[in-house]
Amino acid sequence: MDAEVFRAWIVSAAGAIEANRDHLTQLDAAIGDADHGINLSRGFTAVLGALEAGGAKVATPGAILTVTGNTLISKVGGASGPLYGTLFLSLGKSLADDVSQEQMAEAFAAAIEAVKARGKSDAGHKTMLDVFVPVLAVLREGGEDLPARLKATANRAAENTIPMRAIRGRASFLGERSIGHMDPGARSSALIVDAVADVMEGRA
Ligand code: ADP
Ligand code: MG
Repeated sequence: MDAEVFRAWIVSAAGAIEANRDHLTQLDAAIGDADHGINLSRGFTAVLGALEAGGAKVATPGAILTVTGNTLISKVGGASGPLYGTLFLSLGKSLADDVSQEQMAEAFAAAIEAVKARGKSDAGHKTMLDVFVPVLAVLREGGEDLPARLKATANRAAENTIPMRAIRGRASFLGERSIGHMDPGARSSALIVDAVADVMEGRA
């Protein structure tokens, strides 16, 4: 995966966030403060602007993901901005100019650890990590039909947050009442994984 692939991923992710903005906000209305779609839409719109403004200077996978992470941290209000920002900054730190699947898996593993540290959170807390962790396992496995398996895993993992009780984030304030709703950050994470899978399949 080279710079062009990473750029296509971020552009595709931004499009998916925009198309699902209202759904993400509705999910956050049920167990949060109804701003997740708005937050990420503002953030990814700014990311597209920053990538464009950077032009030819933003020409490596590392540079693209660093611009993405820094922009999300500065433009997204709410918990998800710093957490997604941390994810993309960490990914950007460790990537070569042409990234193998194995290198991507190891960079993603390190980025997940950075998100856990930043959020004092882990899988099982009903957050974006409940999508990232099973997706990492599939990425590490590799093999046949990887993009389709990544998508299926991410989307199932987001669904699997429905019966969970939130331990972190705003939804945790609801205690038992957080049960029965999909975590908005898990849903947006699945969209971002879908986007990378589309790019791997050559569809974006
Ligand atoms: P806020 O909760 O500040 O309004 P958003 O609505 O944009 O921010 O994002 C909420 C999402 O952020 C949650 O659905 C969850 O997936 C994720 N999140 C919140 N807190 C944490 C945390 N400590 N660790 C991991 N993810 C978290
Ligand atoms: Mg919110």
